Amino acid sequence: MDARRCSVLVVTDAEHSDDSFSLLHTVFSYDPDIVGVLQSFIHNKEGKPSTLVLLDDQAYSKRSLFDTLESIQFATHAGLLEHAAPIVYSPSNSSDYMMECLDHGAIDYVVKPLRQEVVNTLFLNVIRSSTQQHRHLQKQSSAFATARSSVDSTETEGDMWKAFKQRLLSVFEINHNLIHQHVSEFFKPSNDQDRSRVKCISSERNSELKTRLSSWSFAPFDLDHYELIQCVFLVLQHVLALPDLQHIAISDDDLYDFVFDVGNMYQSLNPYHNFRHAVDVMQATYYFVCRAGVVSLMDPCAAAEISPNTPRGRYSWLKNSASLKHLLFPFDILALILASIGHDVGHPGVNNVFMIRTATPLALIYNDRSVLESFHAMVFFNILQRHCFQPLTEWQTIPEYTRFRKIVVHSILATDMGLHDDYVNKIQGQWERLNNSQVDTTNQAQVDDEIILICGSIIKCADISNCARPFPVAEKWAQVLQKEFHEQGDLEKELGLSVLPINDRGKISLEDFQLGFKKNVAAKLFEVVTNVLPDFDFAVKNIYDNCLIWEERKQRPHDSGVGTEATSSAVSSDFEVTDVGDQSAHGREPLQEPSSHEESTTNRDASNQQQRMPLPRRQSILVEVPSQDQDKESPGDGLRGRRLHVKSPCHCILQ
Ligand code: 5GP
Ligand code: MN
Repeated sequence: MDARRCSVLVVTDAEHSDDSFSLLHTVFSYDPDIVGVLQSFIHNKEGKPSTLVLLDDQAYSKRSLFDTLESIQFATHAGLLEHAAPIVYSPSNSSDYMMECLDHGAIDYVVKPLRQEVVNTLFLNVIRSSTQQHRHLQKQSSAFATARSSVDSTETEGDMWKAFKQRLLSVFEINHNLIHQHVSEFFKPSNDQDRSRVKCISSERNSELKTRLSSWSFAPFDLDHYELIQCVFLVLQHVLALPDLQHIAISDDDLYDFVFDVGNMYQSLNPYHNFRHAVDVMQATYYFVCRAGVVSLMDPCAAAEISPNTPRGRYSWLKNSASLKHLLFPFDILALILASIGHDVGHPGVNNVFMIRTATPLALIYNDRSVLESFHAMVFFNILQRHCFQPLTEWQTIPEYTRFRKIVVHSILATDMGLHDDYVNKIQGQWERLNNSQVDTTNQAQVDDEIILICGSIIKCADISNCARPFPVAEKWAQVLQKEFHEQGDLEKELGLSVLPINDRGKISLEDFQLGFKKNVAAKLFEVVTNVLPDFDFAVKNIYDNCLIWEERKQRPHDSGVGTEATSSAVSSDFEVTDVGDQSAHGREPLQEPSSHEESTTNRDASNQQQRMPLPRRQSILVEVPSQDQDKESPGDGLRGRRLHVKSPCHCILQ
């Protein structure tokens, strides 16, 4: 084989590319046109006839290197990629590591730095790998032939069947690769976390965490990243020990792997939408299901209000069943708790309206509909697939697959606050059906739909539960949320976009921000949910108690110097206020502040200006590997630090 007919794709990054790459030029020529080459390379069947993919492992974390190797192997086996030979290029001499690389799909391993003799023989790998690929493809087509002959009688039908199956197979595989690549854009697992630190948490501290997790006063602000990880671990461990779930045997190490990866998917520089918020929502979900009598508390002494002996007769609509336990099975609880911890993964710290206005790639992918929630659900399901929960994500493996996926995905989608009012109406409708005994309990599909709606109600309440926490806790959450809203406003100003009052620094006081949200949004939800789930009444009371305190504060003279009117636009920038034209649909241009002619003119000007101003080109959105010093607020670097684009390895191709 003529070596000049073989390409070498080197995947490295600027930091690690070294002079030895120039050696490759002596055998292979250089092609600078390499933007996005890896992607097109993997998808382009008719690409280079033979390509060595030299993966510089210093440009990857171990896991993403293995993922890349596997995806190349996968694409090759699926026939989507031909004659590609992935080779790991590494400074490590460890034979164990070399074997691991081969196990994950590397065809060879080259120790740094490259030597001339090695370069001269590199192309042999292509021949070796294409022989292997050929054998694999032959095997695959004979499997098709067997399937075809067992099903078809005539030659023509057989050919059609084969073509149909091959087309379907490629749809599966292309989709798998697309998801894999899409997620790995955002998913940059961190290597520098010392995982053993969770194991060093003392048993006293562990008990303390259990006590805190069992109480409505849960306030995670002083917990470090490892303690937050431990909180998730403890809740999952507790749920997995439920009677019907014991067959899902998961080792502690595997469970920690999962929780660490979920934690890494949260952006630590977001003031509000970070891992701490996810843990808070998970705790609220856990507390709610305990309160509803479905799960026991880890520390029964922590919440005297929840006793196993609490009479459950309040669920009048349950008629013969004594408790919600008969409707929500442990498997559903697991799905719901998982959804709660994953519901905001990869959140960029700006809301859907911003994503849509600035035509971010995610908004385009999801057609402006529940953009972030669709993204969270997709990414989180992919994380489940990569970890110990993978069997639950396989339709061939468990009969509960459909229900599990529905609860996880629908619950996450339910957290789109742009659809809040629709959801409140749906819950009201459910209450009327249940109260009037219109649900046919013998119709499993109907019952399942009601369960999914109940799960959505619980997670929605948990998602905004911070305003129903004891006041000092609620106040702290309100502060960090307002900080994030303001940072979005700063960014909008920088981009020449109009800014909603709620995002505009100094426009709306914390008191009005909270009063607007509690009265117009939170109370409505909790009140309607309390019809269906009477155990949630305590939260309604807390919301009104907190409102009194905010009102009281508003009366007190203070130096905030900002507007005091609790307008509906002081609610949340996720909502678009319905008193402006017919702009009630989700995902359109956000409202212009309607209060005065002057103001709306200014905003119109701003949006005209926006049309004239080209937006900065952004290929990928806003997610960076969280640093290990997670969630420590660093006041100075909020905005700038958060607007980092994904740093992808750079590629250069040599032909
Ligand atoms: P998430 O984005 O966390 O999934 O959905 C919850 C959304 O509800 C937040 O982004 C925020 O817009 C809104 N929200 C949650 N808690 C509060 C609160 O206490 N006050 C206000 N004004 N909005 C809240
Ligand atoms: Mn959330």
